[in-house]
Amino acid sequence: MKKVYLDNASTTTIRTEVIQEMVTIMAQDYGNPSSTHSFGRNAKSILELSRKSIAKHINATAQEIIFASCGTEANNWILRSAVKDLKVQRIITSKIEHHAVLYTIMALQQEYNIQVDYVAVKPNGEIDLTNLTDLLAQDCKTLVSLMHVNNETGTVLDLKRVSVICREHNVLFHSDTVQSIGKSKIDLQELSIDFLVASAHKFHGPKGVGFAFVRKNSGLQPLFFGGEQEKGQRPGTEAVHQIAGMAKALEFSYANLDEEKIYISGLKAYLLDQLELEFPSFKINGNLDGFYNIVNVLLPFSEDKTAMILFHLDMKGIAVSRGSACQSGSIRPSHVLAEILSVEDLKKPSLRISFSHYNNLEDIDLLIEALKSMK
Ligand code: PLP
Repeated sequence: MKKVYLDNASTTTIRTEVIQEMVTIMAQDYGNPSSTHSFGRNAKSILELSRKSIAKHINATAQEIIFASCGTEANNWILRSAVKDLKVQRIITSKIEHHAVLYTIMALQQEYNIQVDYVAVKPNGEIDLTNLTDLLAQDCKTLVSLMHVNNETGTVLDLKRVSVICREHNVLFHSDTVQSIGKSKIDLQELSIDFLVASAHKFHGPKGVGFAFVRKNSGLQPLFFGGEQEKGQRPGTEAVHQIAGMAKALEFSYANLDEEKIYISGLKAYLLDQLELEFPSFKINGNLDGFYNIVNVLLPFSEDKTAMILFHLDMKGIAVSRGSACQSGSIRPSHVLAEILSVEDLKKPSLRISFSHYNNLEDIDLLIEALKSMK
């Protein structure tokens, strides 16, 4: 049975070149970057070259890149220090953020009694920027935290517009860019974003490593205390092989961006054509011009199919993600779809299908065949 992986918003396969790079470093360059002998200096040099390379791809400076263990950690760090150290009194966010942001903000609200406002989300999953501007009329030390690409629906935030709005209102702007770094060009000289976050396993790099972009002179303070690594911003011996793997993965992602984007967009268009053909009353959760590698669809199946759909596809070797509630009640409904779907539609089966350049048309045909057998 051919296995089909269409869950690339969850994680991605590591590029062979990245694995090779990491294996070489693990075998040969095992020094601790903090050591002053040649082994240490060699590891330190790998680390700093990786930082420079990553910074170059997003037009930042190397000192603005701080390595972390994952996107969740980087989001937690930025949000917590913004409240604790930068004395942010209010956070404006949305109910469709990833839990790494939403739950962190909720915890900060409890601990620091900050004001939290949720900007309205339009029925197509987009953030209502008029509402954001209205919310910003209030004058207090504010941070706006809005993700670039939604991991469930693929809706895209206009980073340029939001960064201009934030600058005009003199507020800080943090964006969870975990789904877009490596898949979309980001120029931090053009965009006045204060903080953003990336995770290597989303762009064909290893798990357990990510980075934060922290604008120079932001005043952010560390979450952890210990050594002098990352200039004391994030102590702990650096995972040199992971970081070098991440840098390599990002390099490949940006070197092949245009080509892979065209290819993946073609796969998404083909999937939508096939769904139109076989299930004409399917609906897109979100908007038609969402991000090129993610689509979330509501299938015209009866509600009793909801609980079993992922299991059924898995039995056929097809990996996708659930889009909405599981009827058995054992899985909580998606907090993102709950914001944009009616109560009735939320009970029906929705699927998130997410692509990479490793997919092909046959993968989609197999998915469609499997879905047809469930009709
Ligand atoms: N933010 C978004 C938008 C994500 O999709 C994810 C991963 O699913 C995360 C944050 C968390 O990243 P990590 O797995 O590196 O902790």
